Amino acid sequence: MNASHPAYIPSVRKTTDLLVVHCSATRPNQDIGVREITQWHRQRGFDTVGYHYVIRRNGDVETGRPENAIGAHVKGHNANSIGVCMVGGVDAAGKPANNFTAAQFVALHGLLDQLRKRYPEARILGHRDLSPDRNGDGIITPNEFIKACPSFDVAAWLKRY
Ligand SMILES: [Zn+2]
Repeated sequence: MNASHPAYIPSVRKTTDLLVVHCSATRPNQDIGVREITQWHRQRGFDTVGYHYVIRRNGDVETGRPENAIGAHVKGHNANSIGVCMVGGVDAAGKPANNFTAAQFVALHGLLDQLRKRYPEARILGHRDLSPDRNGDGIITPNEFIKACPSFDVAAWLKRY
């Protein structure tokens, strides 16, 4: 906190029907967490980190916004969702890549299990799955993805568990 960033006052979320998985779009050698992402998000004008949880490269789960607060991670769905960010997701050239560590996937699975117990109604999906259906056919195909986030197919991954 400093003078240019007034104290963050969370607003409480009333509904939680989405658990949205993101990536930080950082390279695998960048060992970052909530602290760094908070700085970046503040630079973008957010009050604080936009995600509720961040999973570091070593699988540590860090808390961002309070779990019951409205986040800032997905356009149009912040009022009814929890945002989880996996650190990584682009290769050395900056291209989307599923380069998360085994420890991160174990941690993500454990965290989603806990969240599912608290929010049994919530659907789990990746950020890109919420991209608008541009051609209006009701089906969101990969070429309609605005971004690759979180750089892996969350639904397919969940099925393997
Ligand atoms: Zn995202």
